[in-house]
Amino acid sequence: MGAETTSFLDSAIMLLYLVATSFFILGIKRLGSAATARSGNQLAAIGMLLGVAVTLFDQQILRYEWIVAGMVLGGLIGAVLARSVAMTSMPELVALFNGLGGAASALVAWGEWERVGAAGLGPDALVTIGLSLLIGSITLTGSLMAFGKLNGFITGKPITFPAQNVLTVVLMVGMLVASGLFAWNPSIEMLFWIILGGSLLLGVLTVLPIGGADMPVVISLLNSYSGLAASMAGFVLNNPLLIVSGALVGAAGLILTNIMCVAMNRSLLNVLFGGFGGGDSSPAMEGAGPATDMIIKETSADDIAIQCGYASKVVIVPGYGLAVAQAQHVVKEVATLLEQKGVEVLYGIHPVAGRMPGHMNVLLAEADVPYDQLYDMEQINSEFSTTDVVLIIGANDVVNPAAKSNPGSPIYGMPVLNVQEAGRTIVFKRSLKPGFAGIENELFGAEQNQMFFGDAKKSLQDLVRALKENE
Ligand code: NDP
Repeated sequence: MGAETTSFLDSAIMLLYLVATSFFILGIKRLGSAATARSGNQLAAIGMLLGVAVTLFDQQILRYEWIVAGMVLGGLIGAVLARSVAMTSMPELVALFNGLGGAASALVAWGEWERVGAAGLGPDALVTIGLSLLIGSITLTGSLMAFGKLNGFITGKPITFPAQNVLTVVLMVGMLVASGLFAWNPSIEMLFWIILGGSLLLGVLTVLPIGGADMPVVISLLNSYSGLAASMAGFVLNNPLLIVSGALVGAAGLILTNIMCVAMNRSLLNVLFGGFGGGDSSPAMEGAGPATDMIIKETSADDIAIQCGYASKVVIVPGYGLAVAQAQHVVKEVATLLEQKGVEVLYGIHPVAGRMPGHMNVLLAEADVPYDQLYDMEQINSEFSTTDVVLIIGANDVVNPAAKSNPGSPIYGMPVLNVQEAGRTIVFKRSLKPGFAGIENELFGAEQNQMFFGDAKKSLQDLVRALKENE
């Protein structure tokens, strides 16, 4: 191949990498709104296909058997998972994906180190190999711990032991020093294995003391780590697409982590070291009932149908229980029946309702709820004073007035939906048990509130029947 042809090919490859990168950026941009998210996902997938194809060409692969076998097997597993995994299990699936991403980056670093050998690698390559190994390995074991905590293989309670934080910090500093030494003098082969082993241990140690209930935030952070590790692997391989796409994932994961922390009014340090998700304040407090002697008023589907039928504006506030009950389609049916009666129906979405960001938006989109009816917290909070009835479906913490009124509450300061400004609130849940934060909710005993006990799907089906009978 002549020099001219080679330089033309190099330019074409760079151009195609740029096109693939643009697809990623446009895809992420479109993921920002429910209306455009589907096309954003498709754009990013096309970018990925283009990126893989160009990379294979760029690397002048000699034998494709393993690559094709890997793509077919991976594609099959992906297709099966996409169809079979329940929405409520999505955080643990993401944890697993992050872990595999971290492992892939660490393996790339390892492979390059074995292939070229210490003598052939410059300090810049060695820095990125060390960092890719370090971040990738932490991401792998940290994500496996998060996965185990979420699906119950490992207890959701914080696992702690004396001097744990000191050990973690010492290990962290030790690994950074080892990575620096590795870049400076790679002939000490032992350093490579020390970084690998130490980082794998560090991943375990950093996630073990965090309660299972805080895992969504940890997973978002690990997602960011997996992006950073991929970006480092991009430097190792001198592949601009991997550098940029890894950086995009790293930044997106950090932004998401920040959004979750802000929405819960907690700092990242508090999440990582606060032990919030365990002990007495965890969802493990399943048997807990109301501590105070609140006067609870129960209602029925027929009564709710009458109240909503006479309302001019009804706001539906979905929460984690809606996802558990898979009641998104019935909730849409209720809204449609109300609209047919001339009632204005809106949905109030709290940023951390459910167990992952966007959880409620995804569920309601699945049921074809029009996007313009989904109001975020700031928008809906100004609507409550003119709302007749609020139907709170499987939501608890995100409507808890203690976040505003009780400085001693663990959720004090967390922005919540001001549902009590409405004329009537009706809470659909199975019992008086607390939600994620493990604390009682005074709204249940409030003057304007009524409780409709039962599984959300069954309760909403009863409401559909009652609304039809009242026609
Ligand atoms: P909560 O966890 O506060 O409450 C959910 C309620 O749903 C429970 O009280 C439960 O009561 C009820 N429920 C469960 N199953 C059913 C069912 N089948 N039918 C009817 N009700 C049911 O949920 P929210 O959405 O209000 O709040 C989310 C919480 O998760 C917040 O504290 C948030 O900080 C936290 N969180 C959210 C993250 C996110 O990204 N979204 C990330 C990390 C944490 P009962 O058992 O009586 O039925």
